[in-house]
Amino acid sequence: MSSKLNWIDKELESLKESGLYNQIRTLSSPQGAWLVVDGKRVLNFCSNNYLGLANHPRLVKAAQEAMAEYGVGPGAVRTIAGTMDLHLKLEKRIAKFKRVEDAITFQSGFTANLGTIPALVGKGDIIFSDELNHASIIDGCRLSRAKIARYDHADPSSLENVIREHEGDYRRGLIVTDGVFSMDGDYAPLDKLADVAENYDLMLMVDDAHGEGVLGEGGRGIVDHFHLHGKVDIEVGTFSKAFGVMGGVVAGNAKIIEWLRQRGRPFLFSSAVTVPDVAATIAAVDVLEESTELVDRLWENANIFKSKMESLGFDTGKSMTPITPVMLGEAKLARAFSRRLYEEDVFAMALGYPTVPKGLARIRVMISAAHSKDDLEKALQAFAKVGKELHVIS
Ligand code: PMP
Repeated sequence: MSSKLNWIDKELESLKESGLYNQIRTLSSPQGAWLVVDGKRVLNFCSNNYLGLANHPRLVKAAQEAMAEYGVGPGAVRTIAGTMDLHLKLEKRIAKFKRVEDAITFQSGFTANLGTIPALVGKGDIIFSDELNHASIIDGCRLSRAKIARYDHADPSSLENVIREHEGDYRRGLIVTDGVFSMDGDYAPLDKLADVAENYDLMLMVDDAHGEGVLGEGGRGIVDHFHLHGKVDIEVGTFSKAFGVMGGVVAGNAKIIEWLRQRGRPFLFSSAVTVPDVAATIAAVDVLEESTELVDRLWENANIFKSKMESLGFDTGKSMTPITPVMLGEAKLARAFSRRLYEEDVFAMALGYPTVPKGLARIRVMISAAHSKDDLEKALQAFAKVGKELHVIS
């Protein structure tokens, strides 16, 4: 018998021993405030469905109507025969929504980062990257073959020091940062980063995956939040979080978008986003443009939850957004906490090393506009009960 795959058994065993093996839970319900997870009905604090759009009747209807007219699949990559008028409509709508010159869609936020960074910089160039950037940014940076210089998290003076260290030894330079950092729920000081980018004549790119639908007027994102229109060259986004669907987008300077249509490899070599995805995302933009109600409710829920958790005595870390970490310290405690919450019908994820630094394990609570006030109350009661039981609060 061949032993060539035995290494996988060993690796999997070692993941299990170190507590890093992913146990994947199965949902048998739509996304929403409540889920059926592995057969159990639980209150959901794990999804990025910030506005409750993943199962919104208008999005579902838009997808169904579009499928009746266009079918399901695009049948080709965008540059051959895969660009439907629906794709162009979505790109126009997103550019208008985000108040930028133009936009291009990708299959996911992940591929948007993978496609964009190597199109902008290559050998002989440099990328200044926040040390806590998302995996898809890191992979995009590596693919580009540009030099990668990391700066301290969300620290413009560290960025400036790193730029000075490399002054004169690169052709083009790109500063790249997450907008909202999903482990802590803090966000980048984008106004200060934009000043640095301007002073050193560098391109500036932000991944707004967790900012869209959340920050800015009516959820227009982090650039809108800081009123930096025209000062941030590239906004990468995803339709898989607040928009409730799937797909990626790059919005910003028209020249860059035109360049990505020529050089964004996932755009050129991977098929277009499907019809129901595109139609549902257009409906999500409709919902967001018509009213700020969902975004307002998301923030109201987040503010209620955070302030009540703090009065209970929990530490919610550096959060500046509806992503609410509940800081617990040791990974073992965080895992036990999450397990006990689950028994109390509350589904909230424990995050430990290496996802977050050692000693900074936590439960991450993802608040949504889909939660009712009763849902929040139920969660708070469960947190209080388990917190006392495990001696986290008194
Ligand atoms: N960027 C960031 C910051 C993210 O958190 C994520 C999703 N985890 C992505 C990109 C990838 O988005 P998508 O799910 O659309 O691939």
